[in-house]
Amino acid sequence: MKNLTAMPLADFAGLSYPCQCGRTHTVSIQKILVENGCLAQLPQTVQELGGGPAYLLADPNTYAAAAEKAGALLTAAGIPFHGQLYRTQAPLVPNEHTLGEALANLEPSDKLIIAVGSGTLNDTARFLSSRTGIPYMVVCTAPSMDGYASTVCPLILDGQKITKPGVYPQAILADTDILKEAPMPMLTAGFGDIIGKYTALADWRLSQILNGEYYCEACAQLMAHAVEKCAQNAPGLKARDPQAIQYVTEALILSGIAMGMVGNSRPASGAEHHFSHYWEVDALRWGQPHPLHGNSVGVGAVLSASLYQLAQSRLPQGFPLPDKGHILRCLTAAGSPTGPQELGIRQALFYESILHAMEIRDRFTILRFLDREGLLGGCAAELAPRFYPAGKE
Ligand SMILES: [Zn+2]
Ligand SMILES: [Zn+2]
Repeated sequence: MKNLTAMPLADFAGLSYPCQCGRTHTVSIQKILVENGCLAQLPQTVQELGGGPAYLLADPNTYAAAAEKAGALLTAAGIPFHGQLYRTQAPLVPNEHTLGEALANLEPSDKLIIAVGSGTLNDTARFLSSRTGIPYMVVCTAPSMDGYASTVCPLILDGQKITKPGVYPQAILADTDILKEAPMPMLTAGFGDIIGKYTALADWRLSQILNGEYYCEACAQLMAHAVEKCAQNAPGLKARDPQAIQYVTEALILSGIAMGMVGNSRPASGAEHHFSHYWEVDALRWGQPHPLHGNSVGVGAVLSASLYQLAQSRLPQGFPLPDKGHILRCLTAAGSPTGPQELGIRQALFYESILHAMEIRDRFTILRFLDREGLLGGCAAELAPRFYPAGKE
């Protein structure tokens, strides 16, 4: 049997893996490339997926970063395409308007949708692809989140965050020459989303031990191995070192793949994501801007690891705690936020999120464990002031 942790990311395309966990894990993505200069392979990739006409989705930032060049490459190769270029200068949101514009400009002859972007454009293309049956691929412009290889679409509908089912992209092109130029908060967000796997994996393991929940050691190891490579190269992120950017990008893509292999988001998402979600929903409710997902996930991981520390004496004997010190050092080295004040989160909201973030979904995490033990309220009272040392809001 193959050793998943030793496998190059490109080899995960089309994988069918009979695993020790009893399941056969499959990856229905045809091509995955993370390397410098790989945008040049766009025309060939489009041909491999059945050719054009292609429908390109971009916004002004991603047009400048990659879509203009992508269009030139397609033109040079004689592949017909047209585009939806969002004119907004504000950050694009995956809402009714964005989805509607994408649909309104789709032509009946389009054979492939190409998202040139990161979170929102990828989610928009995925949603459109899953509802029209037209395959899609993505040209990544920032290593900012782990949704590239995901199959779900987190959307904002009627002002609410709602996750809808979607499909895998058929190909992922991640050109590190482009990715390393992404805005720094997007780089630190991608890193934060990866560091969040430390606590996500701990939550998954805890639920396996206490509740007998399905757990795949191979997938957990795969994720842990990718996270470790990012952690070791954390200082390189600040310096936009191509190798550090490549590891983060690979880990983000792998995270989506691991979720697909397992059939749920356990390898990638635990209490740290529930915190991030809780803070984001609160900002949406008040119509306020909120930090990039991964930047709040990193802070959520610090909080979750703190909760593990407080729970230590009640946890199963020998349970490996997520290392809070290590998490903090990694985030600091990469330049990612480490505390709620940096994210603009009020202490009252922070406190409330410790008590209620677990209600976001029916998933066993350190939060539900502490709640079951009757300790959650005490933990919230103890931690909230610790995270706000100056007592400032
Ligand atoms: Zn498995
Ligand atoms: Zn995430």
